[in-house]
Amino acid sequence: MSDLRVRFAPSPTGYLHIGGARTALFNYLLARKLGGTFILRIEDTDVERSTQESVDAILQAMDWLGLSYDEGPFYQTERFDLYKEKVQQLLDEGKAYKCYCSADELDTKREAAMARGDKPQYDGTCRDLDPRDDDAPYVIRFKSKKEGVTSFNDRIKGTISFNNQELDDMIIQRTDGTPTYNFVVVIDDAEMGLTLVVRGDDHVNNTPRQIQIYEALGYPVPEFAHVPMILGADKKRLSKRHGATSVMAYRDMGYLPEAMVNYLVRLGWSFGDEEIFSMDDLIEKFTLENVGRSAGVFNPEKLLWLNEHYIKTGDPQRLGELLGEYLTTLGHPSTDGIDLAEVVKTLQDRSKTMVEMAEKAVFYVTEAVEFDQSAADKFLTAEQVPVFEALVAQLEQCSFDAEGVEAAFKTVLEQTGLKFGKVGQPTRVALSGGTSAPGIYEVILVLGRERSIQRLKDAIARIG
Ligand code: GLU
Repeated sequence: MSDLRVRFAPSPTGYLHIGGARTALFNYLLARKLGGTFILRIEDTDVERSTQESVDAILQAMDWLGLSYDEGPFYQTERFDLYKEKVQQLLDEGKAYKCYCSADELDTKREAAMARGDKPQYDGTCRDLDPRDDDAPYVIRFKSKKEGVTSFNDRIKGTISFNNQELDDMIIQRTDGTPTYNFVVVIDDAEMGLTLVVRGDDHVNNTPRQIQIYEALGYPVPEFAHVPMILGADKKRLSKRHGATSVMAYRDMGYLPEAMVNYLVRLGWSFGDEEIFSMDDLIEKFTLENVGRSAGVFNPEKLLWLNEHYIKTGDPQRLGELLGEYLTTLGHPSTDGIDLAEVVKTLQDRSKTMVEMAEKAVFYVTEAVEFDQSAADKFLTAEQVPVFEALVAQLEQCSFDAEGVEAAFKTVLEQTGLKFGKVGQPTRVALSGGTSAPGIYEVILVLGRERSIQRLKDAIARIG
């Protein structure tokens, strides 16, 4: 074990989106690579916007991606006593103060500042007030440094400095007594022993404020690594306009978690010109040094390409289990007598998503084959009846394996004097309902002797 301690700290105000998942993945990879500890902390201090449903969605998505954590999930709402204690400590040490300015007063001042062309900042009205003991509502503000510079050496972006003048006295406790994000994140990162904070670069501007709080509370400051954001193809911040941004929506669309992981990591990290990485490869190869400084651009076609790759090369047994779930979603929960791993083998070269595979697999498992009307009109005709009958007779007695089924067809061709296409395509329609199923021998072997014969007999009845 190394002493690296990293975390993922989502706010449960929605599903796990692509950007959050990438942050989680980077943290996970660093922890696994270096033998460190990966912590999950749910930042639910915004009680109005946080929901249990979102917590569950986040946990489910982490699980789906295979991002196991070593500690947590911790919930900030269970730690309010600790935060209160720290607020009191800052008040006692004169590093924070009660601010009685009303929202209206602050609005008026903000507008006036903007009218003057100044940056709207809290003007420090209550900073040096003598303590009051009336029961007027108040917030608690942190007394931020007024002079000098706060800087840090970001592991991705290099040195970043802020003029302390730019930082006004931020609120650390709201009127209702709840603490704010920039305050509690410091306490938690410090108390949980974080050595490195990897997060989205939308938090760069929060970092100097957080550093001042670390210092005020006497905590060691961790290292920071801010990962560039993810943009859509139009170079605007990734949003629903660019397609689904929820990780789990991709599972529902038939993407494999390994494709998603591979895709996410490449949104901001590279290793030469390699594109395909298993989780184990990543644990070996991932470093912050190879995280780029510019924003990643979300490219759905590439994700689809990776998905196709992982479907093509996936273990049929495992894909078969997944296929069962997608078939259930499509309304076909029963796959009795059908080996889904064998189904996968016939479809993995022709499916870009598991949903596509499931749609193509329905004919194997359905009780009632759905016929493509034009295929049926063209191929299920009276002249097929004797052909199907001959094939039924052969299938009833052949040895039921690849050679046996092939031999059965050969015999039928000899008996009828027909070319293979004249027998194969109508049989494909009879067994699958259409003309685009996989190879006919494979289909027969996957369906099994009984089901294949039954479908041929059904087709004969249908023609009759
Ligand atoms: N909870 C914050 C968010 O979801 C992340 C805080 C952090 O990583 O410091 O944006």
